[in-house]
Amino acid sequence: MKAIIVRAFGPPEVMTLEDAPAPAPGPTQVLVRVKAVGVNPVETYVRAGTYARKPNLPYTPGSDLAGVVEAVGAQVTGLRPGDRVYSHGTVSGAYAEAAVCEASQVHPLPARVTFQQGSAIGTPYGTAWRALFLKAGARAGETVLVHGASGGVGTAAVQMARAAGLRVIGTAGSEKGLALVREQGAHEALNHRDPESLARVGSLTGGRGVDLVLEMLANVNLDRDLDLLALNGRVMVVGNRGRVEIDPRKIMSKDAAVLGLTMFNTTAEEYRTIHAALAPGLENGTLTPVVGRELPLADARQAHVAVLEPGAYGKIVLIP
Ligand code: NAP
Repeated sequence: MKAIIVRAFGPPEVMTLEDAPAPAPGPTQVLVRVKAVGVNPVETYVRAGTYARKPNLPYTPGSDLAGVVEAVGAQVTGLRPGDRVYSHGTVSGAYAEAAVCEASQVHPLPARVTFQQGSAIGTPYGTAWRALFLKAGARAGETVLVHGASGGVGTAAVQMARAAGLRVIGTAGSEKGLALVREQGAHEALNHRDPESLARVGSLTGGRGVDLVLEMLANVNLDRDLDLLALNGRVMVVGNRGRVEIDPRKIMSKDAAVLGLTMFNTTAEEYRTIHAALAPGLENGTLTPVVGRELPLADARQAHVAVLEPGAYGKIVLIP
């Protein structure tokens, strides 16, 4: 099979498409024929060698795939060859024509969800659900600011927060992104590149502020987020790319909380809860992943450049 192989950490050029032996599933694992791969920003940090967690070299990147089960290990129940699935993780790497996953890492892909959309579920929808409901305790009737709502995690968060009865304000940095955020169900869309735009949060909430901020770029926005909170508000840090100075008095004065999460800490039980919770929305269309761009697997380098550029529009997907 063909697979992207990384032999040294560095720029996108360290990724090469090579012939590799097809991996064999162990007793608790499945072999999946990969139809589409979701590209996540974290895969660029890992490839660059700047991320706290580094895989042993050489490795094949990627955790989020959608495809068809080809073989199952002797101890696997509930999955059969021919099943359509998506993954939230892999054992052998998703940027490949075939991948081995633990059976617990794959979930049924409803018929109405394409493989491309399926590859946009694992990390983005898992992160959005864990952040909103397991960690930040989002409740119907609350107002959430999804700060960075045009990308993979943000579009997922807007869809599920709206479906759960929250009032949703989403931000994007381009006109196309703002239109996308509204289409996903946001009641209001604001431009995070325009300082005046965020000031509207006050009038949009009757001066009260938002109960929750889901933050995709904390190093830029955290101090300002604290200004936008209502009493007892929470900021959930999902994305961060550097250091930031904040005034802690803003946290004190509102009995507020700054929370954070990384999906690497997700427990097996949380994963079961998250993907069980996503299933009905994927089946009935409440949750519909947005695929903004498809590239061949051979163009993984280009995908790693594009995923860090401004102007996000849903998910970037690689097709083996
Ligand atoms: P993505 O698809 O590339 O989207 C990036 C988002 O950030 C876009 O909506 C983009 O909007 C927005 N953004 C850019 N500049 C911004 C600003 N100044 N203020 C607010 N938002 C801004 O990435 P993703 O997959 O959604 O992930 C988002 C972030 O969360 C990334 O940093 C990623 O590494 C992180 N993440 C963390 C975890 C975790 O475990 N903690 C899990 C998944 C993702 P425009 O392009 O429209 O400007």
